[in-house]
Amino acid sequence: MVDHNAPEADLKKLFYSRPRIFADYLLNAGRLAVILLDAAGTIRDCNAFFLENAGLAEKPFGLSINAFLRDGQAAAKTCGAGDCLPVKLTFNLNASLEHSLSGHLLEIDGGYVIFAHTVRLTDNELVATLSRLTDELTDLTRELNKKNRELAAANETITRLMMTDPLTGLANRRQLSEMMNRELSLARRSGRPLAALMADIDHFKSINDAYGHAMGDKVLKQVAQILRDACRKEDIVARYGGEEFLVILPDSGAGAAADCGERMRKAVAGASFTGIDRPVTASFGATVLTPADTEDDFLKRADAALYEAKAGGRNRVVVKNAAVAVPANTEQEVEKQ
Ligand code: GH3
Ligand code: MG
Ligand code: MG
Repeated sequence: MVDHNAPEADLKKLFYSRPRIFADYLLNAGRLAVILLDAAGTIRDCNAFFLENAGLAEKPFGLSINAFLRDGQAAAKTCGAGDCLPVKLTFNLNASLEHSLSGHLLEIDGGYVIFAHTVRLTDNELVATLSRLTDELTDLTRELNKKNRELAAANETITRLMMTDPLTGLANRRQLSEMMNRELSLARRSGRPLAALMADIDHFKSINDAYGHAMGDKVLKQVAQILRDACRKEDIVARYGGEEFLVILPDSGAGAAADCGERMRKAVAGASFTGIDRPVTASFGATVLTPADTEDDFLKRADAALYEAKAGGRNRVVVKNAAVAVPANTEQEVEKQ
């Protein structure tokens, strides 16, 4: 029995009389790494605590202990009989954190035993580790920012592709629909005028037939650019269908819409199209939003105005108010035809 009031020497007595209890505890349960080496420093055995701290799944039989020692220290070779050398074993358990075991090397029966326990990193090591982690974090943050910028650019490209007609670069129906909703509610709320101008290339089918589809595409692109150039930056120019365009003109009444249509008509009719030796013209139908209009009423009226422009001989602008249709450029047309 252990006498708890006995002097310290009794503990030593107990140790010598029951070495197995202490050995079992130290080897299996205690937080002490025990490594047995041969004379050359090769590992012959070790306990579980060493494996755990070295991050090893199996005992590293046959491996030199020097592989675990920092800065190429050759502990086994420097230890003579009866010496009890302090050693420090450093493990890189993962790329960012070092893990140290500190203890002593003892020469026993021509081989060696290492007893070592875990130690906290020294202040210097902590500072070094912290600064390395900070550097890594800075690098990762920089990388993350770069990726985020790339992602934002990719999203922008996707949005642009989703919203843009690939041939002409104009707004497509999807974008038009969004912008139209915004402009309609803005106009209704503010009471400011809003006009729509529908444009359609005249006899475009015959251009395709005569010059080929690729040439037709070129004409479409050029007309799109002409329309874009002829209006203000706040106007919305969209490809509405095959060779049909819709222009939404905020803050514009019938007069402004007729002027814009006429400007566009002239620009198309006056442009030269490389490889096309016949006039390219377009017809335009314009209208102005009324308070009673749905979006459908508004666009149908613009379309009806365009139909009238076609029926009236093409290459002309017709402005159609909610009640009556008024040809806007009869004089020029008389001149041209
Ligand atoms: P109108 O003066 O009455 O408008 O006559 P049109 O020939 O312009 O009209 P129609 O509707 O008969 O023909 C339109 C043509 O536009 C037919 C179609 O092949 C062509 N088209 C539609 N989209 C494209 C396109 O993306 N590229 C080309 N090259 N042609 C297209
Ligand atoms: Mg046409
Ligand atoms: Mg058409």
